[in-house]
Amino acid sequence: MSKQTLSFQAEVAQLLHLVTHSLYSNQEIFLRELISNASDACDKLRFEALNNNGLYEDAPNLEVRVSFDQAAKTLTIADNGIGMSAQEAIDHLGTIAKSGTKDFMGKLTGDQKQDAQLIGQFGVGFYSGFIVADKITVESRRAGLKADEGVRWISGGAGDFEVETITRAARGTSVILHLRDDASEYLNAWKLKQVIGKYSDHISLPILMEKEEWKEGEKEGEPGGMVKTGEWETVNKASALWTRPKKDITEEQYQEFYKAISHDHENPLTWAHNRVEGNTEYTQLLYIPAKAPFDLWNRDKKAGVKLYVKRVFIMDDAEALLPSYLRFVKGVIDSSDLPLNVSRELLQESRDVRLIRDGSVKRVLSMLEDLAKHDRHDAPAEGADGVTDLVSEEDKAKEGKYNAFYAEFGAVLKEGLGEDFANRERLAKLLRFASTSSDTPSVGFADYKARMKEGQEAIYYITADTLAAAKNSPQLEVFKKKGIEVLLMTDRVDEWALNYLHDFDGTPLQSVAKGAVDLGKLQDEAEKKAAEEAAEQFKPVLAKLKEALKDKAEDVRVTTRLVDSPACLVVQDDGMSTQLARMLKQAGQKAPETKPVLEVNAEHPLVKKLDGSVHFHDLAHILFDQALLAEGGLPDDPAAYVKRVNALLV
Ligand code: ADP
Repeated sequence: MSKQTLSFQAEVAQLLHLVTHSLYSNQEIFLRELISNASDACDKLRFEALNNNGLYEDAPNLEVRVSFDQAAKTLTIADNGIGMSAQEAIDHLGTIAKSGTKDFMGKLTGDQKQDAQLIGQFGVGFYSGFIVADKITVESRRAGLKADEGVRWISGGAGDFEVETITRAARGTSVILHLRDDASEYLNAWKLKQVIGKYSDHISLPILMEKEEWKEGEKEGEPGGMVKTGEWETVNKASALWTRPKKDITEEQYQEFYKAISHDHENPLTWAHNRVEGNTEYTQLLYIPAKAPFDLWNRDKKAGVKLYVKRVFIMDDAEALLPSYLRFVKGVIDSSDLPLNVSRELLQESRDVRLIRDGSVKRVLSMLEDLAKHDRHDAPAEGADGVTDLVSEEDKAKEGKYNAFYAEFGAVLKEGLGEDFANRERLAKLLRFASTSSDTPSVGFADYKARMKEGQEAIYYITADTLAAAKNSPQLEVFKKKGIEVLLMTDRVDEWALNYLHDFDGTPLQSVAKGAVDLGKLQDEAEKKAAEEAAEQFKPVLAKLKEALKDKAEDVRVTTRLVDSPACLVVQDDGMSTQLARMLKQAGQKAPETKPVLEVNAEHPLVKKLDGSVHFHDLAHILFDQALLAEGGLPDDPAAYVKRVNALLV
């Protein structure tokens, strides 16, 4: 292939612009990203070589070499990993393969600070080289291809890049950064070692740099300087972080390792590092991130846990290792028992994998439980003996973290109710909701139960599209009047998830928008009697209402749940809520055609007016349509509604 110039995919050009303009504050991460790519390339070679030992050619020791040339102002990161063919260089360095890229680009605001945050979550990888370089040359040859099938790729990081075939004896990739003037500090061994130590100590591969030594000036009076010796030395620890004993790993090292595997620029909320022995042996290092990634809702996104077998990297979309509702967890699992050539199919079936998965789910849940335990809202209580519990520094550090976690990942966690039956009860304890006594999602089922009124027999909840709609729903009126707390559920997943949870710790969950209200013991005898009498008197009007609304309402009945509103809609006990039906319709899916029940407040002046009114028919329809509007729905025929209201207004 002779030299040709190709254009970057539009998204790459956009990303490059951003990289060069927004990431100045954290320049040095480019080295972490490029070394991480080099290390991935070596992992891939090791994996492919399991079935084809010839790929090692005559260089079986995988390594990364970092070198610089002060005169040419270049910094080179070279690996002897899998390398790239010409086509791969075009594909991988000219396009972004990540799914959800378009969505991500759509989120960019143009505000450099905010965008820099976002880009941290996206992970810029190779393109981060352009933070410090105004030109990058990549020379590569894929393992297994012939020497004259190498490739050279050059770009100035604007709209296009050049590629041509070259002859390259060594397999693997050299990334040559032509540094900008303001990045010349990286032409210094000391600086490079410092950055490598910070970001890449945990890489299991040796990172080599050429040794330098001090040399006096040639003649009297001439200054001395550092000169290269031709001897290479390893400058990182070169042992995989998770294989080291906990006590030898600092907090900062754990955090840096997290950043390297997740491409997140923020520290994780918490992590757990364990060696599990028993039926199957493995090491797990699992992190809970602080911020949701841009593609959290992308269903076919890769899971965040990398699978290793005896320190050999196997795959990084190991879905079999954690269920989808824990897809936010990042980390490493290193098994001692799985075969090295484990395939995806085998992963699904393996008993060892099942044990690892169960163990990992338990570990994540207990990390979350630990955070939840420390997220106290109240000050530590003074004991009866006048002794106040002292909160340790470690405990204090965990305070507030669960709320932070929940704000980012709570909705994902709820999916677990439907996905992971075995852990449903543990999950239910971890859920938090807003309620009529808290606008923030901070009420757990257990808190709710502890506050239940004398005689209250159910945990009441309402689902709605927004917090405002939930809070102001007419269905809550009687609960407010009686001071009964109701959980307000506004996540899209709530309705679905709650299908799988019928009770909490023996107390049934009851939607206030389903079925007739039965406050049971919370209602006194006088109230019950008054309601029955009102219903009796109202019977003739009710019959007329049913007739007038027979196309819209399954039934019309008198209710005690309303205080200020004339009417509301509810669904039959086993029916799908109107809100869920609406969501399904919006999503273009079929919702069962069920009609709601109209409940009317016989005490309301508007309802009282119905009896004998010449406008009976119009009033009946207005009543129904308003009940629909009050819960965020739209009348089937909005124009007819407007016409009716206007006729009455006139
Ligand atoms: P990511 O690593 O997140 O996939 P990058 O932009 O860093 O994204 O790299 C894009 C792709 O380019 C990689 O997935 C890999 O296929 C290829 N690549 C980058 N660096 C190397 C390297 N040193 N050796 C082989 N392939 C590489």
